[in-house]
Amino acid sequence: MKRHNFSAGPCVLPQEVIEKSAQAVLDFDNGLSLIEISHRSKAFVDVMENARALALELLGLEGKGYKALFLQGGASTQFLMVALNLLEKRAGYLNTGTWAAKAIKEAQIYDDIYEVASSKDANYNYIPKGYDIPEEYDYFHCTSNNTIFGTQIKEFPNSPIPMVCDMSSDIFSRQLDFSKFDLIYAGAQKNMGPAGVTLVVVKEDILGKVSRKIPSMMDYKVHIDKSSMFNTPPVFAVYTSMLTMEWLKNLGGIAAIEKENEKKAQLIYSEIDLNPLFNGFAVKADRSNMNATFTLANEDLKETFDTMWKEAGINGLNGHRSVGGYRASMYNALSLDSVKVLVEVMSELERKA
Ligand SMILES: *Cc1c(COP(=O)(O)O)cnc(C)c1O
Repeated sequence: MKRHNFSAGPCVLPQEVIEKSAQAVLDFDNGLSLIEISHRSKAFVDVMENARALALELLGLEGKGYKALFLQGGASTQFLMVALNLLEKRAGYLNTGTWAAKAIKEAQIYDDIYEVASSKDANYNYIPKGYDIPEEYDYFHCTSNNTIFGTQIKEFPNSPIPMVCDMSSDIFSRQLDFSKFDLIYAGAQKNMGPAGVTLVVVKEDILGKVSRKIPSMMDYKVHIDKSSMFNTPPVFAVYTSMLTMEWLKNLGGIAAIEKENEKKAQLIYSEIDLNPLFNGFAVKADRSNMNATFTLANEDLKETFDTMWKEAGINGLNGHRSVGGYRASMYNALSLDSVKVLVEVMSELERKA
């Protein structure tokens, strides 16, 4: 039986995508497996080109000067790659959680980083607002969704300088004016595919402005010039990400999935708010539609609750150690039915206790 997978990442993928990619591992191109064909074969070059085009299409960024790349090293490599390619004098970072702080740490290797605002004072349970982004800086970096703390930026600033965003845990989950961003990156394993590949969408005209020499593998321009094939790409991860993007497109794209994601979020948060046994972690206005974080009001119920959700076929509900409690990650491929099962277990606990 398929379990209700609330894991924060790697995470649930559409069943039809898993079946298709499993089939491609067995036979992708006339008796050859996806993982044994040349990445230079026409069959795979088509996959890469399709994946790159789909990413821009879903984000509504075709013909607007953007390039999509599928790179390796995870979102964590983007923390330093962004700085290497864009940081000349100084950059401004919004510190909204563990991942944002890691991005700051890597960029600090290259230059002084200015934190435009931080919510560290409250263990990152909110999104700072009303901060200024200095015009003279090279770029502004933010994290759209804070996977660990369960907060999400609902309104992005109008940045006077290039805006870079780590969208690892909410890419393709909601409609935004993506042309506000000059560089978007996302590790695939949260909302797009299996681990092993990172989507980078970059506006070409922000590149080539720093004076340092950039190692080839770290240079966005090199990857753009080589059509994201500078070195051997992770073929399985790219293919499976392409299938997930096709699945999303067939559903009606981001507009359609956003509605589903809102329903799922409303369901879980209304249970958290109505059920006296649970407390939400993030402040209400900044709650993430992807990762709902909550704790038990009475820790004595932990064993009972843990047994109940595990018996209901739920997986991956434990919170990150820096928050404790629980985290329900509700990425695109998680069904509303899975959230209903969780909410039923939560109200069952209330009846029992
Ligand atoms: C998981 C995550 C990362 C790290 O991704 P890796 O691909 O493991 O390097 C970075 N940022 C955010 C927001 C994440 O959720």
